[in-house]
Amino acid sequence: MVVSGEKPTLIRKVVRDGKEVLVRHDGRLVDQMRPIRIEVGVLSNADGSALVEYGGTRVIAAVYGPKEAMPKYMSLPDRAILRCRYHMAPFSTAERKTPALTRREVELSKVLREALEPVVLTELFPRAMIDVFVEVIQSDGGTRTAAITAASLALADAGVPLKDLVAGVAVGKVDGVLVLDLDEIEDNYAEADMPVAMAPSLNQVVLLQMNGVLTLEEFHAALQLARKGILEIYRLQKEALRRKYAEVKVEG
Ligand code: ADP
Repeated sequence: MVVSGEKPTLIRKVVRDGKEVLVRHDGRLVDQMRPIRIEVGVLSNADGSALVEYGGTRVIAAVYGPKEAMPKYMSLPDRAILRCRYHMAPFSTAERKTPALTRREVELSKVLREALEPVVLTELFPRAMIDVFVEVIQSDGGTRTAAITAASLALADAGVPLKDLVAGVAVGKVDGVLVLDLDEIEDNYAEADMPVAMAPSLNQVVLLQMNGVLTLEEFHAALQLARKGILEIYRLQKEALRRKYAEVKVEG
């Protein structure tokens, strides 16, 4: 997004418990995520669904399928096709946002598909299709990574066989310092931002994008920082899935 006006100071040195630490504009430490909320099975009309919040960023993912591919000519003889749509609701930003799919949303739909394809066992469902819809309800930076986190959970909730879950987070360089989980204001003024998603148990990076410039050392450190955040999210993803199935057991 284009920003105008003077760049605000986003990172300050403060003394906490007698020690000097770097604190971000919202009070977080440089390696701290925003508060995360994850819920699975939030929509009654989808086969699988999930709600994910990273601070003020809130996304909902819904999955339909595997089902017979429609139109039929799109079907593949050896595997299911995965169709993904990333969309920002017109009310998700403070600015005017067209309800129609923008070029950015078309690109992010592709990014979402490419991040999920490595973990979905599509070969188990020849000629079928799996639809993944992500709606950004509220945006405050990191929507693509929250979208990936939510989509993999919605797939799991739909009972689609997966090799692993996928979790994502953005890292970047703000005021010359590497930070975890950028919010919108940090994203707008960052010297670099790098969304990363991984399938942690497969130890596979499924999304790696970069806007801006990092040195090679910074890149390695940023990747480690992303990994730390991703492992935290992964733990919460598994907890959310367990919670849902524990509830089902009690009801049954
Ligand atoms: P991400 O959401 O994955 O960080 P971007 O870097 O493209 O993706 O966007 C950063 C943030 O800028 C978004 O999370 C959102 O808060 C804001 N933003 C992006 N596109 C728009 C838009 N069309 N209108 C208003 N805000 C937007």
